[in-house]
Amino acid sequence: MNTLGVFLLLMILVALGYAWSCAVYPYRPCRSCRGVGQFRSPFLRAIRLCRRCGGTGRTLRAGRRAYNAAVRARRAIRRSQGR
Ligand SMILES: [Zn+2]
Repeated sequence: MNTLGVFLLLMILVALGYAWSCAVYPYRPCRSCRGVGQFRSPFLRAIRLCRRCGGTGRTLRAGRRAYNAAVRARRAIRRSQGR
């Protein structure tokens, strides 16, 4: 096997590993609230939910978002062909 073949095989393995990790761990801690899901105001004692993650403290990873978009697109194509 030549160098290009090894390189391509490595790329495929990395892509598969990333896809697998996105399937197993679709969420990562929210970047703006660091996984807490809410902010506490220093002046008032109000707690407000993080707007980015809606208070869950987790956001979808980029790979999972791409997967969801692909599923949605495939479903739309199938629906347009079906009827
Ligand atoms: Zn958040």
